This record gives sequence, structure tokens and C-alpha cells, in this order.
Amino acid sequence: MKKKYEKPVITKIETGFMNKFGSSPYYARKIRKDIDGITIDELVNKYGSPLFVISERKLRENYRKMYNAFASRYPNVQFGWSYKTNYLQAVCAILHQEGAIAEVVSAFEYEKARKLGIEGKDIIFNGPHKPIEILEIAAKEGAMINIDHFDEILDLEKVADKLGKQIKVAIRLNMDTGIHPQWSRFGFNLETGQAMDAVKRIAAGGKLILNGLHCHIGTFIIEPEAYAKEVEKMVKFAYEIENNFGFKIEYLDIGGGFPSKNRLKGTYLSPDVLIPSIDEYAEKITEALYSNLRPGDFPKLFIESGRAIIDEAEYLITTIFASKRLPDGRKAYIADAGVNLLFTAFWYKFNIEIDREVYGANEPSVIYGPLCMNIDVIEEGTSLPPLERGTRLIFSPVGAYNNTQWMQFIEYRPNIVMIMEDGTVEVVREKEDLTDIENRERLPEKLKIK
Ligand SMILES: *Cc1c(COP(=O)(O)O)cnc(C)c1O
Repeated sequence: MKKKYEKPVITKIETGFMNKFGSSPYYARKIRKDIDGITIDELVNKYGSPLFVISERKLRENYRKMYNAFASRYPNVQFGWSYKTNYLQAVCAILHQEGAIAEVVSAFEYEKARKLGIEGKDIIFNGPHKPIEILEIAAKEGAMINIDHFDEILDLEKVADKLGKQIKVAIRLNMDTGIHPQWSRFGFNLETGQAMDAVKRIAAGGKLILNGLHCHIGTFIIEPEAYAKEVEKMVKFAYEIENNFGFKIEYLDIGGGFPSKNRLKGTYLSPDVLIPSIDEYAEKITEALYSNLRPGDFPKLFIESGRAIIDEAEYLITTIFASKRLPDGRKAYIADAGVNLLFTAFWYKFNIEIDREVYGANEPSVIYGPLCMNIDVIEEGTSLPPLERGTRLIFSPVGAYNNTQWMQFIEYRPNIVMIMEDGTVEVVREKEDLTDIENRERLPEKLKIK
């Protein structure tokens, strides 16, 4: 085959000096020929490109590691799987098998969990928008409802009237734990007294029974100490409630937000150096529990970790569709997947692996997706050797928030497969075609093209 001519450009070769953290700016890209023993070639030949690939083994491993970090330190731990992080049935089913209950944040997610076979009593219901119809169902089915605002208190009191019984509820708190920006739009603020006002309102109404506290301080929190603060404030508040209102706080739900080994844009350190281990979080959190709880008190500790469990268990295989040279001299590649499938590319710099040996000097390169959208950039600056058309790039970790926040814009969504622990490969979400997109459309008769 004749080699394609490419106009020569001058690029500054960076010599291989290590930076102060020991990694060379001019390192060779990692090669990945397989995922859990199944070759990239075999996967793409059979299921197409782009292709999301989930590892059952890695998912279970991550869950167990996290669960054990907490369960080995505190006797009353329950995980709730954060559906919005990845609500593929196969992913939820695995985590339910492992023992997690469901954590949902909308009517849609509530219905999804129920349809999968999860009972209401095993659903934690969070979120700022719970229409009264779904609140009534959730209350009837005994879900754990974490109230977000005063209007929800009023709605739940109406539901209690209608059902003719008191409803057990918890309130969501927001507070200062040293994390900025502080997430203050969800729940009741602790420091301003708003949370105490909510408790007073619930007590005065007499229709709801407060039996839990919830808080979720943010996502990708790289400071274990923030959770210690959160727990300390929650426990103190729980005792204040118990002492003054006669409610018994049976559970403390500390939310999720633990980071995965992903790299936030603008961070210089590698995730292996930057991200504390899950044991460090568990240690801080349980330490704060033991130093604030009265001896013998073991309220149930709910943990709603999403990202840290699923992110590293999923990969996206893409194919280089074309390349071009930008006016500023940089090399640009067009891949068959962009921000339509990798919504989180706006915040994260993924690990990029190549499916084959590539020879030639690295040069500054940009990776675009297939969209007719200027912002469709997966990687805006990295060193890559010259990649031929057809080269596969494997992006990771991509398990958190991409399969829920993706968008259909001008392209179909591709297959998602799972490599099972027994070495078989299962399609867990079939690629879309035109019928999926047009299913709900109606073309008025008089507009039909004859
Ligand atoms: C999104 C969310 C989670 C999960 O957050 P991660 O950062 O994925 O761990 C947990 N609880 C609530 C209330 C959430 O909104």
C-alpha cells in the first residue's frame, strides 16, 4: 500500500527528562491488546466500534474492596447503589447481588429499580424533584425518603393524610465541610438553622416520623477529612434532635462522592499519587463515628458510592476515522466517539491506550469526536505517535456518568458489552437504530411526503 503523503511540520521534540514526580513528558503510550483476556480485535469485529466494555470481575472487585473497607471497621454498614452513576440493568443487578440496595433520585429511577425487582423498602429515595404521585407510591412501599425542601414536607404530610398513617422520613442536610464550592442547593442548611427549622416543622406537623439524616457533600472529593467533618456534624445534630424532639435517628446516610482513579483536568499529579485509598476514607469516617457516637450506639451507616465503584470497570473502544493537520501545527484525529458518548470528557483527562505498536515520534495531538460541534473534543492536548486510520484507542475509566449522561445528537448509541467472570461476552445494551430514535415521533398526516 502506498503511504499517504503528509506535509512535514516542525514540532519541538521534548527530551525525556522526568518531571519532579518522576514521569517523563515524552513517554511511550501504553498498549492494550485485550480487556479481561478478550482481544480488542475480537470485540470490535463482533460488536462494532465504538464499543463500551464493562468488566464484571473489576466491578465486583471494586465493590467488595469498598464494602470491606467500611464493614471491617463498623458493624452496621449498608451500601446503596447510586443509579444515576450508571443504571444499566446488568450493572445494577450485579451490585444488588453483591448486597447493595438502590439509591434513586427521580421517579424514573424509582420505577427502574422497582422493575428490576427491588422492593420499596430497599430503595433510598433522594433528589430535589419528587412529584407527589411518586412520593405516595414510595411512602406506601416503605422506601426511605430523604426530604430535600420544605415543600416536600408539605407534600408528604398530604400523603400521610391520604394514607391515614404516619410516614417515616429523613432529611437531607447541606453543611460546610471545608469543600468548595459548597453544595448548598440540596437539602436543608445546617449552619444557618434551616435544618433545625425543618425538624421543628416535622415535629409540629405530627404526621411524619424523622428517623434518619442524609448528606452528600459533592463528587470526586479528594479530601478524606471532609467526610470526618460531615460525620461529626451529622452525629451531633442527630443527638440534638433525639434530645429535643424524641425522634430516634436510626440511620446516617453520608452519601457518595468518593473519587475514582480518574484525572481531573488541570491536575498535574497522577491519580495514583493524588487519590487517597478507600481505606483512608473509611478510617477517617469510622474514627469520626466512634469519637462522636455514644458507646454502644451503632446507627446504620448508609454509603451511596457511585463513581468509585463503577468508573474503572468500564472502557470505551474507539477507532481513528481520519486525521488532519491544524493551522497551528498540531496533529488532529477524528475518532468515532466524542462527547456524545463521553460526557465526562468535559472534566476528565482519560487514560488513553493504543491497540498496537506504533513507530514514530510523539507530537502534540488533539482528539475530536464525530459531532458537528466545536466542543466535541475528547482530548485537547496530548502526545501521540502518528496513528493510522483504523487504529483503536481505548479510553478509561469511563464507567461513571457516561452511560447515563450521554446524548443521542446526530449519532446512534453503540453496543455495550460485559465481559463476564466466566470469560463469556454478553451484550448488555444493544446498539440503537432509527426505530429507537423515531419510536415516539408522530408525523401529522397532512405533512406526510407523498
Ligand atoms: C450522585 C449521587 C451519589 C453518587 O455520587 P458519586 O460521586 O458517583 O459517588 C450519591 N448520593 C446522591 C444523593 C447523589 O446525588
